[in-house]
Amino acid sequence: MPDCIFCKIVRGEIPSYKVYEDDKTYAFLDISPVNMGHVLVIPKKHATDIFEIEEAEWNSVTSTARTIAHALEKALAPEGINLVMNNRQKAGQAVFHAHVHVVPRSEGDRYKTWLGKGFSEAEGETIAEKIKAEL
Ligand code: AMP
Ligand code: ZN
Repeated sequence: MPDCIFCKIVRGEIPSYKVYEDDKTYAFLDISPVNMGHVLVIPKKHATDIFEIEEAEWNSVTSTARTIAHALEKALAPEGINLVMNNRQKAGQAVFHAHVHVVPRSEGDRYKTWLGKGFSEAEGETIAEKIKAEL
């Protein structure tokens, strides 16, 4: 994708703090991190999101994300690590080249996870069946 910012990073047309690459994936520091050491893992082959990415590319991304998480654990000894992927604008996606955030966490870093909702037994059964019907 000629105008995609992450494709440009892969091609070396704009700079990045690369921490890792292999034949299918590229990992670099997020420019606006939750905490220092926040890494983005992307497929080298452009795909917009989880719906467009091919399975083999996705498996490579998740494998690299695991490798990065282990490296962060050793390098930074964070209090925790989140793996996050935003898909589509309403889910918070701002860059439309699929990426997984590997986020080292620390007490008071102001990263917000969701506030859980409750559901009834009937609602649980209905939604589980609806999902299972597509699997
Ligand atoms: P998302 O909201 O999941 O699409 O996240 C996009 C992320 O890309 C944000 O956390 C940005 O800080 C990060 N980002 C945008 N441009 C760059 C860049 N040139 N280099 C590194 N990270 C970037
Ligand atoms: Zn791209």
